[in-house]
This record gives sequence, C-alpha cells and structure tokens, in this order.
Amino acid sequence: MPGEFDLIRWIQSQHKPSDLVLTGPGDDLAVLKWPANELLLVGVDQVLDGVHFDSTLHSPRAIGRKVMNRNLSDCAAMACLPAAAVATVALPRSVDLEYAKELYLGMRDAADPFACEVVGGDTASWEGKLAMTVAILGRSAGVQPVLRSGAKPGDGIYVTGPLGGSILGRHMTFTPRIFEAAVLVRKHPITAMIDLSDGLSRDLRHVCEQSNVGAVIDASSIPIHDDAIMASRQDRRIPLEHALHDGEDHELLFTTAPDANVPHVRIGTVTAEPGIFIDRDGQRAPLEPKGWEHAI
Ligand SMILES: [Mg+2]
Repeated sequence: MPGEFDLIRWIQSQHKPSDLVLTGPGDDLAVLKWPANELLLVGVDQVLDGVHFDSTLHSPRAIGRKVMNRNLSDCAAMACLPAAAVATVALPRSVDLEYAKELYLGMRDAADPFACEVVGGDTASWEGKLAMTVAILGRSAGVQPVLRSGAKPGDGIYVTGPLGGSILGRHMTFTPRIFEAAVLVRKHPITAMIDLSDGLSRDLRHVCEQSNVGAVIDASSIPIHDDAIMASRQDRRIPLEHALHDGEDHELLFTTAPDANVPHVRIGTVTAEPGIFIDRDGQRAPLEPKGWEHAI
C-alpha cells in the first residue's frame, strides 16, 4: 500500500501514553508493565472477507470494530479484562491509506470503552482479499478465569440476552459482555462460561463436553431476538431454530449453582447424564449441534 510509512506515523500519533504501555506502536515490540499478581490471558481471532464480513457491504470502520469485538467477547467469556491488543492486516492492493485508517479507528471504537490499548501491528498489501487478525492480552484483575470445564450437575444454565438472526446485522455491531461478566463473577459462583459465537446448540456442547456433563434445555424459556423472527420470515425456519443454531450472538452462556439468584434468563439445567436434550411441547428430544455456517 502506498503510504505505509504514513500509516505507521499516523497510528503512533493516535496512541496515548498509559500506565500499562511503556512503549507503544513504532518500536519492534511494544513494552508493557504487567500488573503484579495478575494472570495474563491470551487469545487470537481473525476475520476474512467473504466469511466474516463482506467488504462490498460493510465499511472498514465496521470491519475493524468486529474483529476487535470478537476478541473482547472472548475476554468476557473468561471474565477477564482486556488490556492490550496487536493486529495484522492483509490489505488488498486496491485500498488506500484512508481505508486502512478506518480499520484502525474501528478497532479503537471497540477497544476504547474497555480501556484496551492497540499497542502494535503489521500491515501488508497483496493480491488477495482483506483479512485481519487481532491477538488480545487480558488480565485476571483479581478474578479466577472462568473456564468451560466447571459446570456441575444441577447447575442452572443461563444466557445474557436474546438469540438468533444476527446475520441481519448484529454480527457486525454486537457489544461484548465484559461488564456483565465482571459483575456476574463478583456476585455469583459462576461455574462455566462461554460466549455464543458458534450458536447455542454448538457452544452449549463445548461446555458440556469440557465439563463432562449433559444438559436439558427448555425451549419455551429461550429468549428469542426480534431478528430471529425477521430471519424466519425470510427462510421459513422457525424463530426457535434461529435462536438455537445461528451464531455470532456474542451473548454469554454460563452455568451457576442451583440456588443462585442471577438476573439473567435461565434456559435449562446441567445433568450428570451425558447428552444434550431440549424439552418442547411436552416432548424431550436430542438437541443436535447445527451451529453457524458462515452465511455471508
Ligand atoms: Mg469464544
């Protein structure tokens, strides 16, 4: 990309000094002063044109926001606080400096509300489509990270918001549930947690497999997003199907002790017997994992 050096200089000018970042963008590596006694949590996530977004439909600002928000949502899932991120961008040769700046500003739009700093990155131009990767560093902030493996028989299963139909637009605009997770773990014994990226039926399976438990879900209790109803008008799958199997809701699914009084929607119960079932209209049936099939 012409102006790559201008981009680096511009990104440096956008960076504000902080207690965490001793050396920000512009050196070979960023230097962070990690808080004493805090665990470091690390993850990485990528978005690809034609899979996770469509560059002919979505603005660079929205694409930058999405890639950062996917990483922030993983921080929510572990109940850690995001601290810093680094990014790589593979730019099509056709885009200009302003486009690259918008990608960066989109990442900042997502990261700034959570005080997560973008401390470095790498850009390259090529003949291919736009691809972006963000790696994130989270800090435990005095809380033991919540894993997928801690669900116990008898625990309630909860979600933090309505599900389904994110493809109508929410997959680009969701808010990672970082604050909700931070409140939950401080007030309640959360035993397992995951963010709903692949869809309820698939992500619940991840929790059950890693916790070595089963689950029974009550269909009538699943909160269904208005988008699921809209989507069902378009493809004639019922809204419940969208809520169960669409991905990229990025709400949290968590389990907690049976007597916990949690201000979120309970959708089912963890069982000692393996297998995931759904009760619907008085019938119990296996809940098959269908999950998200990159429908962009
Ligand atoms: Mg996740």
